[in-house]
Amino acid sequence: MKQILETYFGYSNFRPGQEQLIQNAINNIPTLGILPTGGGKSICYQVPGIYKGGLTLVISPLISLMKDQVDALNSSGIKARYINSALTKRETIEVETQLLKGDCQFLYVAPERFDNISFQQLLYKLDIKLVAFDEAHCISKWGHDFRPSYRNVVQKVLTLPHNFTVMALTATATIDVKEDICALLYIDHKNVIETSTKRDNLKFIVDPTYQKQKMVIYYINNHKDESGIIYASTRKQVETLSEVFSTKGIQHTIYHAGLKKEEKEQNQSAFVRDDIQVMIATNAFGMGIDKSNVRYVIHYNMPQDLESYYQEAGRAGRDGLPSECILMFSEADIKLQHFFIETAPEAVQELKKEKLNKMIQYTKTRRCLQSTIIHYFNPNEHLKNCDQCSNCLKQDENYNMTTEAQQILSCLVRIKIPTTKILLSKVLHGEHDDQIKAERLDKLSTFGLLKSYDASAIQSFIDTLIFNGYIRVHDQYLHCAEEAKQILFEGVQIKTYYKPNQYNEKVKITTM
Ligand code: ADP
Repeated sequence: MKQILETYFGYSNFRPGQEQLIQNAINNIPTLGILPTGGGKSICYQVPGIYKGGLTLVISPLISLMKDQVDALNSSGIKARYINSALTKRETIEVETQLLKGDCQFLYVAPERFDNISFQQLLYKLDIKLVAFDEAHCISKWGHDFRPSYRNVVQKVLTLPHNFTVMALTATATIDVKEDICALLYIDHKNVIETSTKRDNLKFIVDPTYQKQKMVIYYINNHKDESGIIYASTRKQVETLSEVFSTKGIQHTIYHAGLKKEEKEQNQSAFVRDDIQVMIATNAFGMGIDKSNVRYVIHYNMPQDLESYYQEAGRAGRDGLPSECILMFSEADIKLQHFFIETAPEAVQELKKEKLNKMIQYTKTRRCLQSTIIHYFNPNEHLKNCDQCSNCLKQDENYNMTTEAQQILSCLVRIKIPTTKILLSKVLHGEHDDQIKAERLDKLSTFGLLKSYDASAIQSFIDTLIFNGYIRVHDQYLHCAEEAKQILFEGVQIKTYYKPNQYNEKVKITTM
């Protein structure tokens, strides 16, 4: 095994989990490997594939990666091919001929290929020794990226007459997903090989800032020579941010599913080759991109679940050097995700809601963020605090905002017209705009009560009250909840984890 590792891949040691996975494959034991992003999953089927001889069939939903993987293998002297929709008919026939001659060690295919009867017939004629299910979480109904066509492939593969071994690999699997994969692929629990998904070099930060734009620009300006990805939820958001970055003179590129194929390739390779340091993208970007020096991943919007978050955030620091994963979120992100869920098929809505709730809990928790993520994937793994996430670092910085909360709630009660967050914060800030004058809101006793804070800080106080259920939002209008009485009259204290104006100082310095 080691010899193959050294000869073909040039590495002298295995990474955690690799050796055991490879050993199992060699011993024909069906195995599930859960290794973190960048943990080196490919080698886990490549080494035994070479050792066993014959053909290793690699099934992966990521068509975009196949070419790179195959090129890399060929350049190490290993015969590998792929068949997918990108090939012409002639090229496909060429690959098939090579396969039938037994002149190919690795074949990469997408699950959809199994819908093709002649492909299935071809498989019967090949000397398959190992089948690797890459991105195996997509097989599971409980996975965040369930692909029914991939699940259907399992039966088709398992009924093939060859005497082959099965290996499933993923970076993100909750307990339900693990159980599901094991049941489907007849993998014994003791053959689930899981290295800790913990990534010591990643510093997790949750930032409930209301000033996303300022914060992100401030951050990038302070990390000028570093490579980073900014994930946004929608194409429109990507485009908008791109315009803002252009006006601020920040060199960047973008990636989303709406771009032309050539544009996507060009932008991606400019980023991967370090020609451009900043990538603004939707979640369409990044699957399997092997760029090791990404120093930060900023989520401009909260993703739909922790699996997606950890997978995307995990693209930072694949070289093991310290890197930051920042999640910015606001009430609007939660709404957007609910909207996405409502447009999803009804059968998956409940599961998606459950996962979204876990994601929201992550943004609100006071526990160590690293441990919260790891606990989500593996409740049996108990970790010490990471001592570097925003929660660990801010444990002593609880700010008692009860007075501000009382002022906000009394102000909300006094405004008798439909009140948005912006209007409420303007009144508290003491601004004299037309609406405020026309509605005589400047005559309220609560007008300007929070004038010592800037507008964003006030909005972030309001957000905290919304998150904690003291204010309810309907159609963007705010209403005091029943629970508000506890703060106004019953002595309940409310603390915020963050000083609400934590970025103000910095923002002033950069004069934005
Ligand atoms: P994953 O699919 O788990 O995200 P990859 O298989 O793409 O990760 O591997 C990530 C990187 O780590 C690749 O550049 C790979 O060559 C490298 N790598 C894998 N195994 C080892 C090892 N044992 N020693 C050093 N580097 C390794």
